[in-house]
Amino acid sequence: MRPANTALDGGPCDPLGELSAAARQYLKAIWDACEWESDRVTTTAIAQRVGVSPSTASDAVRRLADKGFVTHERYGTVSLSTRGEAVAAHVIRRLRLVESFLVEELGYGWHEVHDEADSLAHAASDELIERIDRRLGHPTRDPHGDPIPDAGGRVSAPRLRPLSSCDTGDSGTVARVADSDPAMLEYFGSAGLTLDSGVTVCAKRPFAGTMRISVTGFAEMELGDVAVRSVWLTAADCG
Ligand SMILES: [Zn+2]
Repeated sequence: MRPANTALDGGPCDPLGELSAAARQYLKAIWDACEWESDRVTTTAIAQRVGVSPSTASDAVRRLADKGFVTHERYGTVSLSTRGEAVAAHVIRRLRLVESFLVEELGYGWHEVHDEADSLAHAASDELIERIDRRLGHPTRDPHGDPIPDAGGRVSAPRLRPLSSCDTGDSGTVARVADSDPAMLEYFGSAGLTLDSGVTVCAKRPFAGTMRISVTGFAEMELGDVAVRSVWLTAADCG
């Protein structure tokens, strides 16, 4: 194993030079897991996200911790170190800019871009990514409402509120939808639930975790608990 490359601390110059594609996937998975719901994640959850066994994930996380990209927290959870965050932000920026490009310039649906963008972002040069950024006018959020880190790795994440915390009668504007399930995104899109849609909670069933909502200009729709937990509204809305 190569020793940690101190050039990584030097800023934007080739921040990925030292890490394998697999290592970057782990850092990205930790970023994704921690972005909206928690600031730490278990290795089991990382394993699920990366699609490997828990023992494989543990080994990888230990190596990333040895190199200073990941910090061990209490109860077996891990979080990104400042150094790990810098690399993950770079990976996330590339991915989300490519997702945005596919939707804005090539007419892809928001449910079609995740896997395509993942492989394209791996292959794209830094020059291509920066040209996409300029072409799109330096977007700050991707097609699913996730913030796009700037070229320096800084993120201005909007304050959002999960739909699950809203009550019957609350209204709001959709600001983010989880992008992990293409079929769900397609369903949302077909029912008019997209970024910046206005929604009103018609009925909340607290113990089931389900909701009936209306989307401005569209019919009412029933959401199961997974769907409810996949939608965020702007924080100023909804109570
Ligand atoms: Zn996205």
